[in-house]
Amino acid sequence: MASDILKGLNRAQREAVTSEANVVQVLAPPGSGKTKTLTARVAYLLAHRQLQPWNIIVCTFTVKAASEMKERIRGFVGDECAKQLKLGTFHSIALRYLKQYGTHIGLQKDFGLADTADSRAIVKRIVKQNELSMDANQARSKISSQKAKGIDAEEFARTRKNAEQQEFSQIYQEYQAMLDASNLLDYDDLLLRCCVLLRTKRECVKNVQALLIDEFQDTNTIQYDLMSLFAQERNVITIVGDPDQSIYGFRSAEIKNLSRMKEGWPDTLTINLEENYRSSGAILHAAQHIIEQDESRPAKKLQATHTFGLRPILRKLPHAQAEAEWLVSEVKRLQALTGNMLQKSDFAVLLRSAALSRVIETALGQAGVPYRMVGGARFYDRVEIKLLLDYLRVIDTPGNSEALERIINVPARRVGEATVKALAEEARIKGSTLWSHVEAVAQGRRRSRAKINEPAMLGLRKFVGIVLGGRKKIEAAADGPVPVVDILTLVIKKLSFEKYLSEHYKEDHETRWSNVEELLAQATEASDPARLQSLIEESTLPDIDDLEQVAVSAKDDALSFFLANIALTASSAEKAEKDGEQAQQLTISTIHAAKGLEWPVVFIPACYDGSIPHSRAEDHDEERRLLYVGMTRAQAVLFLSSPQRNSQREEAVLSTFLAQSGVSSFFEEHGPSIAMTEVTGLAITLRRERPTPAKLAECKKGLDTDEDNHWPVTGELPLAELAKWDYGNSGGQATRPAAVFSSASIT
Ligand code: ATP
Ligand code: MG
Repeated sequence: MASDILKGLNRAQREAVTSEANVVQVLAPPGSGKTKTLTARVAYLLAHRQLQPWNIIVCTFTVKAASEMKERIRGFVGDECAKQLKLGTFHSIALRYLKQYGTHIGLQKDFGLADTADSRAIVKRIVKQNELSMDANQARSKISSQKAKGIDAEEFARTRKNAEQQEFSQIYQEYQAMLDASNLLDYDDLLLRCCVLLRTKRECVKNVQALLIDEFQDTNTIQYDLMSLFAQERNVITIVGDPDQSIYGFRSAEIKNLSRMKEGWPDTLTINLEENYRSSGAILHAAQHIIEQDESRPAKKLQATHTFGLRPILRKLPHAQAEAEWLVSEVKRLQALTGNMLQKSDFAVLLRSAALSRVIETALGQAGVPYRMVGGARFYDRVEIKLLLDYLRVIDTPGNSEALERIINVPARRVGEATVKALAEEARIKGSTLWSHVEAVAQGRRRSRAKINEPAMLGLRKFVGIVLGGRKKIEAAADGPVPVVDILTLVIKKLSFEKYLSEHYKEDHETRWSNVEELLAQATEASDPARLQSLIEESTLPDIDDLEQVAVSAKDDALSFFLANIALTASSAEKAEKDGEQAQQLTISTIHAAKGLEWPVVFIPACYDGSIPHSRAEDHDEERRLLYVGMTRAQAVLFLSSPQRNSQREEAVLSTFLAQSGVSSFFEEHGPSIAMTEVTGLAITLRRERPTPAKLAECKKGLDTDEDNHWPVTGELPLAELAKWDYGNSGGQATRPAAVFSSASIT
């Protein structure tokens, strides 16, 4: 087993994987195998230290990274074992702990999650009701950053100083009171409350044997606290990270956490990795040059393991549309040149901000190139989906007044805004939730002063009936998991939702209905007994008095986990994906969301001042690191480009990071000039495929038919060379995908 786990790792990586030290920091540049090392260490701890999987916590930054990591660990230790790990984002792990033990700190078992829209709506309302001058969005993000620092509303109130802070303090306190009254936690609360839990009930984590964290450079203070608390019993921690890739300062990430950790655990073992296994030498060289513009940063060694390859291409286009069209034509050309051995999924377009995607999406759409958006307009944000999810959320947590207000009159039931407002006010005065008040009024148990006429009363009753219908299903299934799909079907039926869509959205109701069908499919999947069992196993923690055992008890909050999963997926800007459907899709992502990932071919468009560095960004060093993170996602081909005019038709000046003296020598300015042979060799090796004669002939055909483009054809395919190349992984030595570059140099 050890040989399997250690196979293909270099010496430093092996040292990190097998180290006996309790606290290990692996600090290393992009592509040096940090994530690979962390994954191997988890497998190693399981296999050789006899740690129990349910006692190991592994934190990743995104949902996607978590599932990839689990997949790899599964390969080493098997499905059963991998599935029992506590592996996920900080938020999802905190959620599990709070669902299981939250009652010990006064949370209700059935708390719901306030998503970003809920939070925003609450703050807006507070600002409006109190006629405050502070901008609601600003207040919302300030609340978030206070929570990220671990400062709750009461603590802030104690330290407030000037008038502006007092106003904010009022908003913060009312916001928190509103969440509490609605039985909701926002995303930041998940972390904050989990800290409170682990501080007051240490027993919850007394069984935790090891804690491992990826992308540590982007943890904030509250996540650091959480780390210390999770590890408090045994202090066995492995973190991997790279200060040069710290890009979440704007969300209060604290790069200081690295040194703080060394102070907290003075015997921390630090291991550096110095070889890059991801990118060609040329890409690395250029990226390196960019990051070195930051003179305050300590010099570091970074060695390419691949040959030099192709210099990144830096291209200027007249305007954004031309840039997008050029990008699409390059995708097509590279595919043609490689006989489609480069698939669409081998390409990524990485953006400084999601707003840049529209013009690229249009160009891809026109050219018929399928793509998937990471971090853009999302499935769960669509009106019809949000509406149904709001119904489910109210059924799950009736105290969720925000969601309740959004749906109480949708579809229209004559319950007007004024009525809702009056009901909400009455509820507030009575100290009850909006739901209990509405329910009591609709059932004639309580009188309301709101002027509710007969049709409105009927509408209210109908609404209450739907929610109660859903609740009944939950209660009926008290001994077992709730079939989420049954509840969703009930809601859809009671709302005559298909009819509603066709009446309200004459133009595109069919697309909308197919989205609903997609949600139904997801709910069906979540209701599948096997899937549910694994959901339960994955999310269940042992009873607090019984921590040595793995308690896998049947749970009745499948609906709650279904919704939480969606909320957490959506919050990290990722769409749920179905296996297999991605191969033919190009990826469009923000650079932020592309962290930790890699693609053979990467485009970074809109490299102009104002875009990157962004005009609103305060920290230019962070912007530079962002460009660095983007560039180092590329394995073999990197395109940087900029339009000469920005979206306001003003002159766009090439990003200062790319315009500094000497930089141009790292790029091809008048590319593309990629030799056909190189691209082919590259494509084949990256896909680890042995080229069949037929495939090579196909490539050659691509070359022959491509006469009028600007690709200088520099030679014949080195067929003999390619066929000779050993693609296997020999004796612990790295496979070197791009090695064919050199052997493919023209015969
Ligand atoms: P980032 O900082 O971008 O997250 P990372 O340091 O986590 O990068 P990984 O994603 O773990 O790097 O590895 C980058 C690539 O290099 C992966 O494709 C991985 O499989 C490969 N790799 C890592 N170590 C080795 C090795 N010793 N031999 C061969 N390939 C390796
Ligand atoms: Mg990584």
